[in-house]
Amino acid sequence: MKVTEHLQNASSTLFSFEVLPPMKGKTIQDLFRVMDPLMEFKPPFVDVTYHREEIVYKKRADGLVEKVPTRKRPGTVGICAAITAHYKIDAVPHLVCGGFTKEETEDAIFTLHYLGIQNFLLLRGDGLKSEPRFQPSDGGHHYASDLVAQVANMNRGRFLHEETATDAATDFCIGVAGYPEKHFEAPNMSTDLRYLKHKVDQGADYIVTQMFFDNKVYFDFVKRCREMGITVPIIPGLKPITAKPQISTLPPVFHLDIPDELVNAVSKAPDNKAAEKIGIEWAIQQSRELIEFGVPCVHYYSMSKAEPILAIARAVF
Ligand code: FAD
Repeated sequence: MKVTEHLQNASSTLFSFEVLPPMKGKTIQDLFRVMDPLMEFKPPFVDVTYHREEIVYKKRADGLVEKVPTRKRPGTVGICAAITAHYKIDAVPHLVCGGFTKEETEDAIFTLHYLGIQNFLLLRGDGLKSEPRFQPSDGGHHYASDLVAQVANMNRGRFLHEETATDAATDFCIGVAGYPEKHFEAPNMSTDLRYLKHKVDQGADYIVTQMFFDNKVYFDFVKRCREMGITVPIIPGLKPITAKPQISTLPPVFHLDIPDELVNAVSKAPDNKAAEKIGIEWAIQQSRELIEFGVPCVHYYSMSKAEPILAIARAVF
């Protein structure tokens, strides 16, 4: 079923979460061990992230150094198929622009279509660590909105190099990312929101937000989106703090603010276990307030660690 249908049919706020493909060499059972306990809360859909290649420098036998692309967490498509077959729930693969030509994207989308996948979260992706900023592949998309337009065209039966009969059209539900605290490259919030609206105008059916620790930023974000005519569901994404160092490691990676009260409490925690308890309690309070606000679903960034999300779900759902 489509994510939007799950949202429409729900009689109360839904619970969903995101997992990462296991590191190369692990098994699908390692991922199922993370997901099993969370199934008690009946997530109608689970997101699976996509991880681009990284460039590593490898010394050759002749002493020269060569750049080698390597991927630590491959397998998004296969994992989505395995989740759908094992749990009989919808898996939402993340697809990115970076590293793909438009033709490769079309092929990947057909593979997912044949596997019965009905939803995507479509993203631009970040630049490689070796690049100063995001570089599209030759013949690939620059922005998530271009990828959205490609899938929306496929939903109308317009494939890249051929028009087909509409009964050959795909029928995907399209999610995109939104940033309550602004995407880091955008010069200001208004510009970022205009581009978010463009993604929706191109065919996005719903938005999932970047994590945030202050609900006020989400409420303001939703208000501004509605004011500019974005009417699709906006699913809040939450991540509990699970270790002391995260108060300084999360902001530069995800470009967000952590409220003083939370920073002070976590800083004073004697160890990571105590910090995690504080982080979970904070996320519980955030979730309760969001549910009271009327959000259709709360989506949790599990980072493939079940226990903190389980503790929140037990308190909230
Ligand atoms: P876009 O919407 O394309 O926006 C990128 C930047 O360009 C923004 O600053 C925007 O304002 C600007 N912009 C947009 N359109 C235009 C235009 N036409 N002209 C000029 N500027 C424009 N990354 C992964 O690699 N894998 C994942 O699985 C993944 N999952 C994510 C899930 C969520 C919920 C979120 C919030 C992020 C996720 N990311 C993931 C990270 C994401 O790829 C990065 O944040 C990336 O830098 C931006 O992606 P986007 O889709 O938001 O880009």
